[in-house]
Amino acid sequence: MANYLTWKPDLGNPEKINALQKKRWRFWDDLEPEIKHAASIHRLLQCEFELRECTQREMALKDKLAGYQKKLDTEAGLIQDIKVELLQENKRYWELELQWWVVRSAFQECPFTHGVNFWRSHPRWYMHRVLREDCARRGGCCRRGCGCCSNRQNWPDREFAAGHCTFECHCCENARGFELSQEKKSFYNQIFDLGKDNGYFYRISHSSLMGLILYNDDNPFDLIDDPPPNYETSSRTS
Ligand SMILES: [Zn+2]
Ligand SMILES: [Zn+2]
Ligand SMILES: [Zn+2]
Repeated sequence: MANYLTWKPDLGNPEKINALQKKRWRFWDDLEPEIKHAASIHRLLQCEFELRECTQREMALKDKLAGYQKKLDTEAGLIQDIKVELLQENKRYWELELQWWVVRSAFQECPFTHGVNFWRSHPRWYMHRVLREDCARRGGCCRRGCGCCSNRQNWPDREFAAGHCTFECHCCENARGFELSQEKKSFYNQIFDLGKDNGYFYRISHSSLMGLILYNDDNPFDLIDDPPPNYETSSRTS
């Protein structure tokens, strides 16, 4: 068996990277429950989803604020309300980031965490084929040529913005042409809740944390698909 502490991945050999990541995941599956009971993959992914929701809500509020400020007849109270909401989201982000570290720091360093760090060291890890498909099928920006998901990595002071659309994405709302009620958002978020043990959770956790697809031997880094934004099409259709 490979010594994970000294093993260096052969980046020129895709099969070895895939096999190594799988071994690292199996290591986690085989760990004694009492060692890993405090560390929750479910909670880690839920927390990352909530952080993306928060950053996308912030961005939507900023877009709305800019729109209102351009209009001469906007009520001052409306602008003030958005500014208050922005302050609240800023606080929420700070708290969620702290919660993320509470969850992440409960994972003791082991081959599993080495695998997660290795996969996520790629600046575009979240553009993995499985994660992009999930975004597109849920009506997210990966369905269109706007390039929002790819660009989120560049948001200042928002490390956890990197990732795909939630129902708070303003670009998605514009493309959809209608606003989703809070009830509808909650309903669909429950269906895709990463707190449950189901096929959806396994697909997302394997791809998000290790770059893996079950029963697939491809080099995870070859599954990163990051097409350039299709600005030409966007301008034609707007
Ligand atoms: Zn979107
Ligand atoms: Zn978009
Ligand atoms: Zn996306």
